[in-house]
Amino acid sequence: MLHKKILHLSLDDVDTENYGCTTYTLSIIVKELIAIGVSFIDYPHLVRLNPNIPWKTRGNGAVSIIIEYENKDKIFSIANKIVYESYTSATKKSTPALILCEKEHITDDLIHFSEEALYKVLSIKQAKSLIKKHNMLYTTYGGEIGLIGALAALANPLIEHTYELICYRLPKNFGLPRKVDKESVIRMSEKTFPYTFNNYDPFSRRILITPHSNDPVLFGIRGLSPNKLIEAFDMIKIEEDVSHFLIFKTNQGTNAHLNFYFKINEVKPYYSVKIRGYVKTNPIITRGGHVFFILKDDSSEINCAAYEPTKTFRNIVSKLRVGDYIEVGGGVRPPNKKYPLKVLNIEYINILKLAEEYVYENPICPRCKSRTKSLGQNKGFKCEKCKSRFPNLSKEKRIKPRTIAPGLYMPPPSAHRHLTKPLQYYGIDLKINVPFDESIFFRQFS
Ligand SMILES: [Zn+2]
Repeated sequence: MLHKKILHLSLDDVDTENYGCTTYTLSIIVKELIAIGVSFIDYPHLVRLNPNIPWKTRGNGAVSIIIEYENKDKIFSIANKIVYESYTSATKKSTPALILCEKEHITDDLIHFSEEALYKVLSIKQAKSLIKKHNMLYTTYGGEIGLIGALAALANPLIEHTYELICYRLPKNFGLPRKVDKESVIRMSEKTFPYTFNNYDPFSRRILITPHSNDPVLFGIRGLSPNKLIEAFDMIKIEEDVSHFLIFKTNQGTNAHLNFYFKINEVKPYYSVKIRGYVKTNPIITRGGHVFFILKDDSSEINCAAYEPTKTFRNIVSKLRVGDYIEVGGGVRPPNKKYPLKVLNIEYINILKLAEEYVYENPICPRCKSRTKSLGQNKGFKCEKCKSRFPNLSKEKRIKPRTIAPGLYMPPPSAHRHLTKPLQYYGIDLKINVPFDESIFFRQFS
């Protein structure tokens, strides 16, 4: 008799149009594996990778599962068949990758790769050399780029994590308007705060749990524990028949892509970085409503941008002044003709120390205490009221009160990345592991 083995199975990039399809394809695999009696060791993992790589799929998320089963070839073949079916039936051609690894514990070299995939640009060659070294089974369709994400998802230990319950539609409803009651989502959001996040953006009054593309996802609820997500799910009024839901463990909402500090001269295009430095130029607002300023540290300088979609966040950024000491995190764009410096697209700003800002005013008349008038450069001042002249007085320097306070600021939820840590989760321990409950992670409706 064969004994059971720990198997890690991962996939990436099943559809280029949206992230929903990769998780959907996995959910179909999960369903089949449950049917043949596979035991699951943990919630399926949904791993978001460096969001600042422009050529990857929109959400840049890959998925993996950890299971126990005696026959790895059978698992690989079931998964491969489902991936192949998704690949051939998709309207837009993607480059799916599927990896299977038999391992009790993920080794440090693999974990290191998964960490780098969160903020760097990695190569297919790097991924393949690790896949070979560890004797993994793999297959790809249409190209091999998906191996990077699949390997990163397989190896990420998700030390800091949140959860997402994704509810899928019946195939007959794909592409039709989603029938989810908006008011019930707002109510759920209020009742489950802060245990769920980014359900609803009060600034734009937009529902954030439903995607807008034609994918199989009806909605996804994000939060701190699987049980809270099921509670939240039960509060939503769904006005169409649904297929099933699956609960993922994920690095969404953890800022996992912004774990490392960089000197400005070390940052490379498409990296996700955090930097500490001084504001070198007062912010300027462009005609399109974008705000730019230059940040410097002891190595170099970089252009920082808060774009129009970050809405109210731009008001904060525009109040920065030369000399402010700040920390910023975000993605790096390469220099171009218009902006000869690299541009950091800011995802959050932490104002550490405000510089003093001064205004220069004409002196007060020493005789009658009214404000004097300048007679021109170096010509002194004249009091209009008592007609005295003061050739030796100079302008008075006064500290101007600043209109922002030190602290952490970020854009409203509608401008967040999947990985963006919501404001209310700063200072919360996201390492707490909820024991896996096999009875709740997958639910079939019809
Ligand atoms: Zn006077």
